[in-house]
Amino acid sequence: MPAMKENLGLPWPSVKKHTKFLDRPESLPQYKGSHFLSMNLHEYQAKELMARHGVQVPPGHPATSIDEANEAIQQLFDTGHKSVVVKSQIHAGGRGKGTFKDGFKGGVHLADCPEDANAKAEAMFGNILVTKQTGEVGKQVNRLLITSAQKIKNEYYVAVLLDRSKGRPIIMASAEGGMNIEEVAEESPEKIFKETIDPDLGLQAYQGRKIAIALGLRGKLINQCGRLLQCLYDTWAGCDASMLEVNPMALIENEDGTESVVALDAKMSIDSNAMFRHPDIKAMRDISEEDALEVEAGKHDLNYIKLEGNIACLVNGAGLAMSTMDAIKHYGGDPANFLDVGGGATQEQVKAAFEIILSDPAVKAILINIFGGIMNCNTIAQGVVAAAKETDLKLPLIVRLEGNNVEAGRKTLADSGLPLITAESMAEAAQKSVEAAK
Ligand code: GDP
Ligand code: MG
Repeated sequence: MPAMKENLGLPWPSVKKHTKFLDRPESLPQYKGSHFLSMNLHEYQAKELMARHGVQVPPGHPATSIDEANEAIQQLFDTGHKSVVVKSQIHAGGRGKGTFKDGFKGGVHLADCPEDANAKAEAMFGNILVTKQTGEVGKQVNRLLITSAQKIKNEYYVAVLLDRSKGRPIIMASAEGGMNIEEVAEESPEKIFKETIDPDLGLQAYQGRKIAIALGLRGKLINQCGRLLQCLYDTWAGCDASMLEVNPMALIENEDGTESVVALDAKMSIDSNAMFRHPDIKAMRDISEEDALEVEAGKHDLNYIKLEGNIACLVNGAGLAMSTMDAIKHYGGDPANFLDVGGGATQEQVKAAFEIILSDPAVKAILINIFGGIMNCNTIAQGVVAAAKETDLKLPLIVRLEGNNVEAGRKTLADSGLPLITAESMAEAAQKSVEAAK
């Protein structure tokens, strides 16, 4: 197996100077997308960003077709790699232990010759992979990552994330790598090591070494692993990530008998509020991995998140949307979605919002809770009536309108002939929607 001292093979672009602390340039489009919280990346994309920041990752190539996969396989064998790993790229973990809909087992496979690797790639590509994290429906594999296979001697877990209670980034690591980390946290929390990071200083060299020692690494590996952890933190901070998880980080044996520590898997999500300063990361978005309704909502600049319940909510303002959901819960109901149409929604946006919440078959009642500060209540009313007429609405519609131009709004709704249930307060509106959904 080839030496892993650097990122050979160079599918990952070379290191770029990172642009930090830019003012939001007017010329850059604002980030529009359903992921107004964070955007998930594929493993190969996260590895590319990690490599740019100096993290050791095995050489590899992503592929979006079988031809590309076969080319990548050939290239790795041609450049002296003795075996490769064929990895399904989906936005879900547990791929290794997953099963495809046609019965083929495992979304991650090792292969010792090009023919075997081609066959594995063929079996995965286009197939639907079901893992612990995808739910029963699974996810279609439209991309593969072909990497050089490493001889693993030990596996570790590492993650960088924000500790909200401390208001600081932390790095977490455990020698129980490859395992379900939630289980480790539950059953033996003493096996997870944590270091709090000063964001002005970054992860300090001594902190990196401290974790390496805690993981059981000795000799030269302490510095090498410590350095890798520092680069991992730099990736997290430099990319404005909300989470970066490497499971496993592995101790491997190189071709020449030496040992080193490398990142074998990666899961990363980026804070969408910072996306304006990362046009390169923004371009990595894979819409086919996202919820179709959330994508549609993003196109109309609506903040929509699908939830499990049956009471659809159409609300202006994120805070009011949250308290509306709380009120529904309080009266024993379950919201079908979070939806904030924003302060200055147009009639078209309201109509689009209404159509989106209605296309969820689980919905049994609709609660409209609007406080018109800037928002004109009549704009909401007109959008709702237009959408309800077009979709031939049969579901109970509970409306609580208050504020700017409320009289006109109420009149538009009353004159529409829609099956309306009106409410004076938020509590009453929530109570009535729970009743109506039953
Ligand atoms: P996940 O199942 O979605 O977390 O995917 P991973 O990328 O973590 O791969 C699953 C498992 O495959 C890992 O825990 C490793 O045990 C194994 N694996 C991945 N890459 C290699 C490799 O280069 N060599 C060997 N021997 N095993 C690997
Ligand atoms: Mg993994």
